Amino acid sequence: MTLRRASCSCGQLQVVCTGEPVRVSMCHCLACQKRTGSVFGTQARFRRQDISSIEGRSTSFSRVGDSGNTATFHFCPTCGATVYWELGAMPDFVAVAVGAFADPSFPAPKISVYEERRHAWALPTGIELEHMD
Ligand SMILES: [Zn+2]
Ligand SMILES: [Zn+2]
Repeated sequence: MTLRRASCSCGQLQVVCTGEPVRVSMCHCLACQKRTGSVFGTQARFRRQDISSIEGRSTSFSRVGDSGNTATFHFCPTCGATVYWELGAMPDFVAVAVGAFADPSFPAPKISVYEERRHAWALPTGIELEHMD
């Protein structure tokens, strides 16, 4: 069984995941750019039953996306890093920020979302582009 631990910058907020993510994607939307401070977000979706523990304190921020669904982001109140989030429309899953694993061998994203908001130089290769119409 694969056990992976994601944590915030200061380390007090941690999520322990077992099993493999069901989807790994990168998102170029402006909200992900704002949230991460980077030019795209990368997230791994796990089945909720594959999250073995969430430890530490977090503050949450909810945002309604273009789909009309609410996403609730959980971030460390000390260092501000978002570690995981929940989607109102998908209660059986938890999304975890891939960077929070600090593991360059983590499975690569297979899908790229919000291509139309992508910085031109942030060009993913070998990946399926999911266009929003
Ligand atoms: Zn922290
Ligand atoms: Zn996004």
